[in-house]
Order: sequence, then structure tokens, then C-alpha cells
Amino acid sequence: MQKKKVKIIGAGFAGLSAASSLVSKGFDVEVFEKNFKPGGRASQLEDQGYLFDKGPSWYWLPDVYEDFFGKFGKRPEDYYTLQRMDPSYRVYFSQADIVDVPASQRELFELFESIEPGSAAKLKKFLEEAAYKYEVGMKEFVFKPSLSITEFFDMRILKSIFRMGMFQTVHSYIKKRFTDPRLRQILEFPILFLGATPKTTPSLYTLMNHADLTLGTWYPDGGFYSVVKGMETMARDLGVKFHYNSPVEEVLIKNGKANGIKVGGEKLEADVVVGSADYHHVEQHLLPPESRQYSKKYWNSRKMAPSALLFYLGFDKKINNLLHHNLLFDEDFEMHASEIYENPRWPEKPLLYVSATSKTDSNVAPEGHENIVVLIPVAPGMKSGKEVREKYLDIVLDRMEALTGDELRNHLVYKRTYAQEDFIKEYNSFKGNAYGLSNVLTQTAILKPSLVSQKVPNLFYTGQMTTPGPGVPPVIISGQVVANEIKKRFRV
Ligand SMILES: Cc1cc2nc3c(=O)[nH]c(=O)nc-3n(C[C@H](O)[C@H](O)[C@H](O)COP(=O)(O)OP(=O)(O)OC[C@H]3O[C@@H](n4cnc5c(N)ncnc54)[C@H](O)[C@@H]3O)c2cc1C
Repeated sequence: MQKKKVKIIGAGFAGLSAASSLVSKGFDVEVFEKNFKPGGRASQLEDQGYLFDKGPSWYWLPDVYEDFFGKFGKRPEDYYTLQRMDPSYRVYFSQADIVDVPASQRELFELFESIEPGSAAKLKKFLEEAAYKYEVGMKEFVFKPSLSITEFFDMRILKSIFRMGMFQTVHSYIKKRFTDPRLRQILEFPILFLGATPKTTPSLYTLMNHADLTLGTWYPDGGFYSVVKGMETMARDLGVKFHYNSPVEEVLIKNGKANGIKVGGEKLEADVVVGSADYHHVEQHLLPPESRQYSKKYWNSRKMAPSALLFYLGFDKKINNLLHHNLLFDEDFEMHASEIYENPRWPEKPLLYVSATSKTDSNVAPEGHENIVVLIPVAPGMKSGKEVREKYLDIVLDRMEALTGDELRNHLVYKRTYAQEDFIKEYNSFKGNAYGLSNVLTQTAILKPSLVSQKVPNLFYTGQMTTPGPGVPPVIISGQVVANEIKKRFRV
């Protein structure tokens, strides 16, 4: 029997994950990517001896990657080498107030105790609860396709929903337990990965603290792009065919079903189509209006995760007082959050994330140089001309100089910037978002855009705008969940 043909739109992490999962289930799989290489938002910039990961840099939840490669009889180490960061990261509250978050839990408890007496015991309990949420979250929630509320009608799950405090926010949960504002900020920080604020995120997501403080921060040698290369190599070895520089122009519909895609004016047949590009792009731009399940109004009312203003910088010297991961939390978090979510505008005094992979890896910058990526979370949908970018580069350099006490301006020898317009141009991103939709309660599980089209039965979606949500580990899971759903519905 001829294998069923699946055409996947996009070769980001979700597309790569779906591709391997589907080919191993017996489908004939081809991936079409608009750009010249895989990785999507996790792409890499290589220029003048510098190597910059353009998107993700925090390798968290190593168990998700192990589980993924394990499904194909492989291990991450078959493709890339990992090392655990210790300290995991540095937080600057001011030049004189610096906290390095250690990898060892013994040292972590000591650190908390030294900042707030009595907090070590509270942290121990907090992390036990976070471990429980992680366990339940990973086992009971994330692999569900979230197509119907009945998937969650199980006494164990219902009980856990209450035990996990699903109906209080991360902010209030942490506030009740810790007093020192710095400890609160360290514990709230992982929520920023979900494209939401601690005040709007259900406390289930303190499971992210288990990821941060227990499972740890890891670094794949060569940078995050080594993971992309590993996943693409494995998919090819399993039999997936990749087509780059191949933007999909249309999903072809006949008698209410997807019967192919159009690429470079050519019609290519398909039994199943999977959209792993931004959900909004696939459904609003590649489908005819009658096949769309969501309206413009629906999309415009979604709460988007932030976009990002990014700087890729090369310095011709080693910078003092920076670690591999640095959080510059020396400004007011509430104000920056409100400038992203409540009153979208360019932030006056933004918080910054500074990554320096050259602190760990000698192959990502010329000898004696530093490769720096600076990320400023900003509201989606704004325009960032040259002036805006220059203004923020000035702010970044001022802040970095003040906090590290090192002179930087005269050593800046390479710079590139990246912002909303670039996300739109490069990835067809809706409103220039970086991380998809916010993980607020009203956009969680069955309330997310559906993994399966309700209008076109053989059209599926995967990636950061559908279930389970944004971040590399969740989208790798999303690719597997969509493959399971397709396998259930189509015999091969
Ligand atoms: C700056 C930044 C920092 C981040 N940091 C982290 C981090 O530290 N850790 C972490 O875990 N996550 C992080 N994330 C989130 C993570 O990178 C994303 O959630 C994830 O990579 C999204 O994968 P995806 O496959 O859903 O989407 P994408 O990566 O966007 O992939 C979709 C692909 O579809 C392609 N495409 C679009 N339109 C078409 C078309 N018409 N035809 C063909 N192809 C098309 C795009 O070019 C793209 O390659 C970060 C993201 C950003 C942007």
C-alpha cells in the first residue's frame, strides 16, 4: 500500500519534531521551509568569526529532549554534547547587589537562607511542590491534544488541579511564602519564558521553578543550533525529505479537505497537511476564507507573548563580571511588564537579558573576543526604526558598563539588531511576536487555538501557538502530540 503523504509547513522545532514522529509511524513526510535552513526562531547567525544563537539560549528540561530522542532509539549525546552551567545564571539587582544562582541545591538553600532567614526550609517545600506539579503536568497534561475538556475528567487530574493551586497566580503563591523582593524575583523569573506575567499565570506554572532550580540550565556545545542540526540529521536518517527556500503559498482545499500545498506555483499532493509555521499565518494567509476556523476578530483579541528587541554584539576583549547567562534586573519589573502587556509602548527602563556563550565555548567568537546577545522583551505590533534601535543600544551599553564596571563602547566591533519587523519578515510571525501566545489561564489547554482544524479534517497545526505552548521543549512535545493525533485518525 502506498504510504500516506504528509506535507509539513515549516522546519522550526515543532516541524522537525512532527516530521520524525510521523515518518517513524509509517507516513511519507516532506517538510517545506521558507528560509534556507531549519530551526525557525532558533536559527543561528554566523558572521566574522562570531556565532550567535538568534533565539533560544536556555536549554531547560533536559528530560524532554532525552525522551524525544529516546523515542527513536537515540540520545541527545548522539548529536551534541551538553554541559551543566554552574552557576546557572547571574542576577544583577544593582552593581553592588549581585546574586549567582548555584546549580547545587545545598548551595541554593544556603543562598536563600543568607538573604532571608528561614527561607531555606520554605524553598525546600516550594521545590517539592514544584516537582509534584512538574510530574503531574508532564505526565497528565502536556501530552494531551487539548481538544475537549473531557480529556481532563479524571479524578486524579481533577484532584491535582486543586492541589496544584490552578486558580491562584504564581505571583500570589510566591508572595505568600517569601518576603525578600530579590528572592521573589528569582522565583518569578521563569514565568517570563511563558510570555506572560506572574500576576496572570496560574500557579501550576511554578513547575518552571523545578525546571530552573532542580533540573538545571544546560549548554549544548556549539550553541542551541546544535540541537536543531541534531534533530534535522535524525529526521533525514529516518527518511524525512526537506525542501529549503520553499515558502508554501497556499494550502489547497477540495471538497472541504486539504489535498495539497502550493510551492513555487507548483501543486504538490498531500493526504495530510501540518502547519508548523505561525498558526495565524497558516490559517489566515494560506487558507481560503471558508476553511478558516477563527476570525480576524478572534486573532486580534488574543493576548500575545512579547516580541523582542535583540542585539547581536561582538567585543574585541573579554568582558569582566559577566557569566554565560546574566539577568539585569536593576530596574522596575512591574513598570516594564506594564509597558509590554497593559500600555504597550517602548519601555523606559527595560530589564535586560545578556547572554555570553563565549564565556563557556571557545568556538563561538574569535580568540580573546566575546559574543554577546542582549534581549529586551517588548510589546508585539510596534515599529522599531533605526533610531529606536540605536537608542536602545545606547541604553544597553550604559547599563552593561555601569553594572560590570567594564569599558565596552570602544571595544564594540560587531553589531546586528533584530526586532518585530524582522520576526514578521523572516518567520511570518503574527504582530512580530517572539514566543507565540501568552500562557494566561484563558489561553491554556482547550482554550488555545486547536491542534486539529475544525473545518478541514486532514489539516493539523503544531508549534508554539497551539498546545502545549511556547518554548523549545513544549513545541517538541507539540510535534509529537500532533503526530499521535494524525496516526489515530489516518491508517497507514
Ligand atoms: C529571542 C527568543 C528567545 C527564546 N529563548 C528561548 C529559550 O531560551 N529557551 C526555550 O526553550 N525557548 C526559547 N524561545 C522560544 C522558542 O524558540 C520557540 O518557542 C520555538 O523555537 C518555536 O518553534 P516553532 O517550531 O513553533 O516555530 P518557528 O521556530 O517559528 O518555526 C516555524 C517555521 O515555519 C517557517 N515558515 C513560516 N511561514 C512559512 C511558509 N509559508 N512556508 C514554509 N515555511 C514557513 C518559518 O520560517 C519557521 O522556520 C525563544 C524564542 C525567541 C524568539
